[in-house]
Amino acid sequence: MHNNQFIERTLVILKPDAIQRSLIGEIIKRFEGLGLKFSGIKLILPTSETIERHYTVDPDWRKTTGEKAKKTKEKQGIIMEKQPEEVGEIILSSLKKFMTSGPVVVMVIEGAHAVPLVRKLVGDTEPLTSDVGTIRGDYVFDSYEMADTQERAIRNLIHASSDSDSAKKEIAIWFEEVELLKYTTAQERFIYDVEPKNILR
Ligand code: ADP
Ligand code: MG
Repeated sequence: MHNNQFIERTLVILKPDAIQRSLIGEIIKRFEGLGLKFSGIKLILPTSETIERHYTVDPDWRKTTGEKAKKTKEKQGIIMEKQPEEVGEIILSSLKKFMTSGPVVVMVIEGAHAVPLVRKLVGDTEPLTSDVGTIRGDYVFDSYEMADTQERAIRNLIHASSDSDSAKKEIAIWFEEVELLKYTTAQERFIYDVEPKNILR
């Protein structure tokens, strides 16, 4: 493949709600359809420690997620007294509870522009407002408001790395390097090759 400089890896987790709703195949189909490649896939039951490590690979995650939550509340006319870090900590503990409640599927997806492409397919965090056509927009209808009133993590089926740097750190948490297989697909060999040589006989 000639476009090696664009190849990157991203970490995707199908959260317990995706497994409970029998959506593994439906979701994986979307990534496969785009022509992305799986370097590793496994079904596991995560521990709270792993969930905390995963979400805090970005040391500012508590703060930024807390700020985002406070802004959402403000739009509803509710001013939260708590500091962003504290709000983030509460979200983290509900995520731990949710993410350890049942099996999840963890996978590494590889390809040119894999990180933004997967985020585009997955859609925005809140299913209520994520676009139609995205996985979160099409298969689930949870909202910040509903999640907040029940003090639970928003159900949005999937985690996907937000940038290449955090993807590298997240992958190291969930996979050993030997679990990630290196191989070439037919798409890479023919479709994205600028000089396809092996089609015509
Ligand atoms: P994303 O998964 O889209 O990257 P974030 O990194 O901001 O979103 O948050 C991680 C996860 O935490 C979300 O997917 C969601 O399940 C949960 N979450 C985020 N913000 C809230 C919130 N305000 N209330 C409940 N759950 C939240
Ligand atoms: Mg995120």
